[in-house]
Amino acid sequence: MNRAGGMRIFCVANQKGGVGKTTTTVNLAAGLAQLGRRVLVVDLDPQGNATMGSGVDKRQLDFGVYDVLLESAGIAEARRRSDKGGYDVVGANRELAGAEVELVELEHRERRLRQALAVVCDDYDFVLIDCPPSLSLLTLNGLVAAHGVIVPMQCEYFALEGLSDLVNTIRQVHANLNPELQIIGLLRVMFDPRITLQQQVSEQLKAHFGGKVFDTVIPRNVRLAEAPSYGQPGVVFDPTSKGAQAFVEFAREMAARLG
Ligand code: ADP
Ligand code: MG
Repeated sequence: MNRAGGMRIFCVANQKGGVGKTTTTVNLAAGLAQLGRRVLVVDLDPQGNATMGSGVDKRQLDFGVYDVLLESAGIAEARRRSDKGGYDVVGANRELAGAEVELVELEHRERRLRQALAVVCDDYDFVLIDCPPSLSLLTLNGLVAAHGVIVPMQCEYFALEGLSDLVNTIRQVHANLNPELQIIGLLRVMFDPRITLQQQVSEQLKAHFGGKVFDTVIPRNVRLAEAPSYGQPGVVFDPTSKGAQAFVEFAREMAARLG
């Protein structure tokens, strides 16, 4: 299935929780918006952290990703504006957890998001999909919709091991459901250069994945962790912080790679 327009769709995925997926999604979105790109964030996690972290109240969604997946609303109806972030959001809340069960019964259940995004392909330059910490039907909808996957990871001892399930899933989706899908890159996040182990794992990553490791490294920075409680990406909340600057740099790296 060829898709019109220049809209590029990326999943931010890693089946582990707490590794920086949502932080990467909202800050990359805000960074790309600052570079003048039109960005849509799709929150595929029932926790709704990307929604809240973009300043959209997940308890007050008329429509969200749940409705999009079950085709009771289109993206044009479900999207909300993140005024702070400068991008649009299709939000999520706990209702989305139910979609998983309801989708199982339906035809083309893994293609729902892809079909919905095709309708807005002229509205955006980038779509960033924040995936839940699992390789579930929700994540599958993200992978089938996407051109590529951005994998945030902490440089910890078991990091490489955890990656193999995700890499295998991406391979299978590539082979069976979405031949466009590729790993765009691995993003080292919450990095602390003073920790020798992190440096070692970082070197291992580069040895193993080569050019698939993004040049930009996101440091551990408390301002990035504080920003969500203000309903803002860190890039907007404290632009002078080291974490914000790193994400702006990452947005430049992505824009340079992909135009
Ligand atoms: P995930 O979406 O993978 O579960 P999050 O992006 O929610 O992960 O990050 C997990 C926690 O770590 C959150 O509390 C977040 O604010 C914090 N965090 C993420 N990235 C950083 C960072 N670079 N420096 C400090 N804290 C971070
Ligand atoms: Mg998350």
